[in-house]
Amino acid sequence: MDAESEYGEPLSNLPMPVIRYDAQGQRRYMNGAAVAMMRAASEGACATNAEARVFSSEALQQYLDTIREVAITGVARELELPFAGLPQTHGEHYLVQFVSHPTPDSAPAVLAIYFNITARKRAEAKLRERESFLESLLDTMPIPVFSKDREGRYLHLNRAFEEFLGVPKERFIGKTVFETSPHELAQTYFAMDEELFAKGGIQRYEFKVQNATKAVRDVEFSKAVFHDDEGHQAGLIGAILDITERKRAESEQRAQYEKILQLNGRLEDKARELSDARAQLMTVLHTIPDLVWLKDTAGNFLLCNYSFEQFVGRPKAEILGKTDYDIFDAELADYFRERDKAAIDALHVCVNDDWVVAPSTRERTLLETRRLPVFGAGGTVAGVLGVARDMSERRRFEEKLARREREFRTLVENSPDTVARYGRDCRRLYVNPTFAALATGGAQALLGRTPAEYPGGPGSVLYEQQLREVFATASDREFELVWGPDENKELCQLIRLTAELGVDGKVETVLAVGRDISELHASRGKIHRMAYFDALTALPNRVLFNEQLRQAISNSKHGHYTAVMMIDMDRFKGVNDTMGHAVGDELLREAARRLVACVRVGDTVARFGGDEFAVLLPETADRCILEEISARIIRRLDEPFLLDGREVFISCSVGIALHPLDSTDAKDLLRYADSAMYLAKRSGRRGFRFYTKDLTVEATARLSLESELRRAVDLGEFELYYQPQVTLRGAQVIGSEALLRWNRPGEGFIPPDQFVPLAEETGLIVDLGRWVLREACCSAVEWNTGRGPRHRVSINLSARQFQSRDLALTVKDVLDETGCRPEWLEFEITESLLLEEDDSVLSALREFESMGLSIAIDDFGTGYSALSYLTRFPIDTLKIDRTFVQRVTTDRRHAELVKAILSIARCLGQRVVAEGVETIEQAAFLDAHGCEIAQGFLYSVPLPKPAIASLPRHLDPGAAYTVNP
Ligand code: C2E
Ligand code: CA
Ligand code: CA
Repeated sequence: MDAESEYGEPLSNLPMPVIRYDAQGQRRYMNGAAVAMMRAASEGACATNAEARVFSSEALQQYLDTIREVAITGVARELELPFAGLPQTHGEHYLVQFVSHPTPDSAPAVLAIYFNITARKRAEAKLRERESFLESLLDTMPIPVFSKDREGRYLHLNRAFEEFLGVPKERFIGKTVFETSPHELAQTYFAMDEELFAKGGIQRYEFKVQNATKAVRDVEFSKAVFHDDEGHQAGLIGAILDITERKRAESEQRAQYEKILQLNGRLEDKARELSDARAQLMTVLHTIPDLVWLKDTAGNFLLCNYSFEQFVGRPKAEILGKTDYDIFDAELADYFRERDKAAIDALHVCVNDDWVVAPSTRERTLLETRRLPVFGAGGTVAGVLGVARDMSERRRFEEKLARREREFRTLVENSPDTVARYGRDCRRLYVNPTFAALATGGAQALLGRTPAEYPGGPGSVLYEQQLREVFATASDREFELVWGPDENKELCQLIRLTAELGVDGKVETVLAVGRDISELHASRGKIHRMAYFDALTALPNRVLFNEQLRQAISNSKHGHYTAVMMIDMDRFKGVNDTMGHAVGDELLREAARRLVACVRVGDTVARFGGDEFAVLLPETADRCILEEISARIIRRLDEPFLLDGREVFISCSVGIALHPLDSTDAKDLLRYADSAMYLAKRSGRRGFRFYTKDLTVEATARLSLESELRRAVDLGEFELYYQPQVTLRGAQVIGSEALLRWNRPGEGFIPPDQFVPLAEETGLIVDLGRWVLREACCSAVEWNTGRGPRHRVSINLSARQFQSRDLALTVKDVLDETGCRPEWLEFEITESLLLEEDDSVLSALREFESMGLSIAIDDFGTGYSALSYLTRFPIDTLKIDRTFVQRVTTDRRHAELVKAILSIARCLGQRVVAEGVETIEQAAFLDAHGCEIAQGFLYSVPLPKPAIASLPRHLDPGAAYTVNP
């Protein structure tokens, strides 16, 4: 224990136990505190083996090993050791420091110094326990919670956090957001955290995060700062609240609210619309002509429109709230009441025709009334709506219509015209009795059939085509149609198709009216034949010849001639005069036959009248052919004719003109051929001559005539003669035709045929015509002033006069000047004038018509080509040409022609004057066929003016009154 004493002094006073061990771990020294501790450990017994009691065997071994290690190395060591064997008062935990402490003899020794750390250990354990409690507590919470230190490193995360993000907490602990989240997001988190540190308090904000299932959730972060012992910011703690559901609920609620707002808005609109509609309805109600009212079940008027007010004759204010008894008389009110009840009982609309006396006008009115029960909200009848229409007018109109319809039907059914109505398929829907009577099978054969089905034939094709065009174009049309209701009958009708439109504006049906113009048609046919062919020889006449000549000229071929031959029989007149007309006619017929035999196929032989024949020879290569033909003609006509049992000899002369050599003009060619023919005649008979320029000698003669004619106008060498016109019955003088005469000094009277054509050609006729007009007017005035019957003067107007524009004006002037009344005059014009496509003629004629002048067609029948002008122009009189009249008793064809002309005139309502009546027989024929007026040598030749005044009122046919000058 010496050593103990050696150190005992400083060590023994230390409050903590200190024990010195030798290198073998043998205890060498213990201070007081150590002794006490050991004693406590061994509970007063021998302290030799106290360490074994204090430590567990494991800790003891560690303890002894450390002593030996320190003893050897000299390097201090420390051990924390639990002291299981010490009583409570000494504590259970010690930190033992081993320090090398060699003895003075350098023997290694180790000091073990004991520091009681029980208190600290206990505090540590307590802390651990609390932390674990908190951790468990947080883990049990369903809300994700996290904490971070001041540097932003995650300190703690609870289980809910792990589950929410689907990431184990190890991935977060100790890391910042920059290591756990994408950079941008991390930056946001960091900024928010810093803001919290700066501001303190509790930070709340909403955010969107992706949860474990990658679903985006709305969350609310709640964060707060926590501090350490010294009050410095140590970190933050935060919780994440999933508010997705709440938000959805919120937005749903908001949507709901908005929906309600919208609905509300719509309801307001609806209400507005309804009130607008009601206002419109009321306007409509007030404007409609029908009477409208509404009554409740008690019969009080709730509503009425303007028409009703008018009908009742009171303003609305005096109607509404009142009943029928206040407005109508009791009987009527009873009736209305009853009708209303009937409608209420029937529960549907009831229609009645009510005869009512209108209170406003006291007029009996037919009302077509509809009463309709009106239902209230509960489904019970709340009242009666009434709508009434005034049918009186309509009823009257319908009756009128029915009457009209009856009238029309009577008209149509009794019309001499055929009437049919066609549907869109061209089938007949209606035929009138006239039409039905025409058809073999009656109406049955016609109805439901198309024209092609009945009567069929070529006419029906045209007919259906016209029908279809009317259906397509809706424009009416008129055409002539020849058709046969059966094989034995032929009919010519003027058909007029009229479109009948349906409500859609399309043609629904077509009305066809057919007028029988068979008579007119036949007459026209006859006239046509007569107009183009010579009745005696059946050869083409001058008209047809001229036409063919013009055609031949326009078709002429280069290097060929078109020749015109004029043939004149030298002794015909003698035969005619000595042997009579019948023989003369036979001679002409035979001559025609011989002429036709002389020419080629394709040549035309024509008779121009009298003994004048012409031949047209187109496409003639040279003169030799013409010479041959001419010679043949002369030879053949030289041969004797056997007439009336006697041999008769005549001869002929031929003149020839060539196109294009002599002229390219048809008229010239005829003239030249004529000149050549006269030359042939003059230079001895039985010859032919070609036209040559020398023949214009004749033209020179004409020139001198022309200059004389001009002078004659100035010298007053003209005189007017008048030929009376008489009624065929009774030969009463009713007028006269003014005929021009030229009293040529030294030559006597020259007939107009010899100078009028020249006057026309030169235009002199205009002045001459004005003179004639004035003269004739003066005569008319003279003969009509007095008490006798009217004497109408006919004046010939030539076509040339119409070419001067102011013809109508001239006529007006002359009438004014002479005091002649228009009804005392008639103008004679020729057909050719009307065929000219010249509106000035029509307008002049219209003007004459409007002035009251009448118009006659002179020489009617000679120039015919189209009769349509007869209806187009205002024509009063037809003058049948004297060549027709003179043959009516000898020639059946001429007789037919005159009858045809008379029938046309009858159809068209025109007067007919027969010209050139020379015999009683002619007069009788004309009278028998309906002609009323005649002019001719039978009654009188043209007379000088004074002779007319002294004529008796009735002429004696056959007595010549004066010699024809
Ligand atoms: P026109 O207008 O056909 O006149 C009737 C002609 O027939 C007259 O010949 C008349 O003398 C003749 N005539 C009358 N009764 C008979 C009869 O019973 N038998 C025969 N064979 N002939 C009869 P006119 O006077 O020589 O006149 C010839 C033509 O001259 C007229 O034919 C007419 O076209 C024209 N003309 C006469 N005066 C005028 C006139 O003032 N102005 C115009 N522009 N032309 C006139
Ligand atoms: Ca005449
Ligand atoms: Ca005439």
